[in-house]
Amino acid sequence: MSAEEFIPQMRPLFGEEEKAELADYLTEDGFFTEFKRTELFEQQIAHYTGARHCIVVNNGTVSLTLAAIALGVGPGDEVIVPNYTMIASPNSVKMLGAVPVFVDVEPETLVMDIEKARAAITPKTKALMLVSANGRAPQVGIAAFQQLCSERGIALIEDSAQSLGSFYAPDQHVGRAGAIGSFSFSAPKIISTGQGGALITDDDSLADKLRRLKDFGRRSGGTDIHDSVGYNFKFTELQACVGIAQMKKLPERVVRKKVIWQRYAEGLAGIPEFKLFEHDLKLCTPWFIDSLAQRRDELAAHLKAAGIGTRTMYPPINQQKAYDQAGSYPVSELVGRDGLWLPSMIQLTDAQIKRICVEIRRFYGR
Ligand SMILES: *Cc1c(COP(=O)(O)O)cnc(C)c1O
Repeated sequence: MSAEEFIPQMRPLFGEEEKAELADYLTEDGFFTEFKRTELFEQQIAHYTGARHCIVVNNGTVSLTLAAIALGVGPGDEVIVPNYTMIASPNSVKMLGAVPVFVDVEPETLVMDIEKARAAITPKTKALMLVSANGRAPQVGIAAFQQLCSERGIALIEDSAQSLGSFYAPDQHVGRAGAIGSFSFSAPKIISTGQGGALITDDDSLADKLRRLKDFGRRSGGTDIHDSVGYNFKFTELQACVGIAQMKKLPERVVRKKVIWQRYAEGLAGIPEFKLFEHDLKLCTPWFIDSLAQRRDELAAHLKAAGIGTRTMYPPINQQKAYDQAGSYPVSELVGRDGLWLPSMIQLTDAQIKRICVEIRRFYGR
């Protein structure tokens, strides 16, 4: 890439390995529907995360809906969701007629504020959806959420869509603290299958429920005997081929994502108007480079003019027209105003990061 070329904020990366997996499959079989490749992809994720079961589905939104159904969430039940997250988190339970209840997030991690969550619990609360924002654990520690949920008899669902490669502890991958953890393989995520999602759980009966829910209520393909109601949220072998190759690249991506964050942290130190969100790099893999930037929109325009793509971080969910609810959420409001994602793709070079840092310093005159 020449120095003048546009640097996108994000772009998925596929290579010869994905091509080879696809070519092998197409030579060998033509069903496309999920089968052996999908099983292998599930085993890779289960092995990487340490979970007993992995069930892949067609995206990381429906995965959350199925998790909620499997845990008994139904119409009218309340589910506590952070007010800073991708809109899919609340929408996933809205789809089944449940009511997302929004609470603000911790300023350091952008993960749900446990005291606000505690205060939002009512007799109708059935589940709490914890979103590990950009791979981060809550500052209060994940055990505090596990304790809160068990004390109050509510299910803990983890929306770990941004957290493949991030850990709560060396032996505890994000997504393994609750009853069910959910991942996404959409185009911007650390690995992608174009569209795709995965659920992990250690619970045999939940795993069985999830498998039935995604496949017309049956336990295995090819039969027409249904003893429970299920739908069709299945994967395809073509996506699995891509996923298998991407999973092999995950360990090196985890290493590189951490280096990318460090390069930015070095290049952007000492600008009072600009601050990166911190990561505990021993455990956490920064998926996107998230920041708070004063005069954010002007900075984004400056960078765009310099050939650098950015993306504004999620607006507060309660203020989105889709929900339009009153309420005071100081942290998500601040992020909605100043939050900016810098270029974060795995193929970003050190030279490009340098160029981005120079432009940000130039904008602030630092
Ligand atoms: C990407 C994402 C989703 C949605 O995943 P899809 O696969 O695009 O449906 C849900 N929650 C969070 C936090 C995400 O980042």
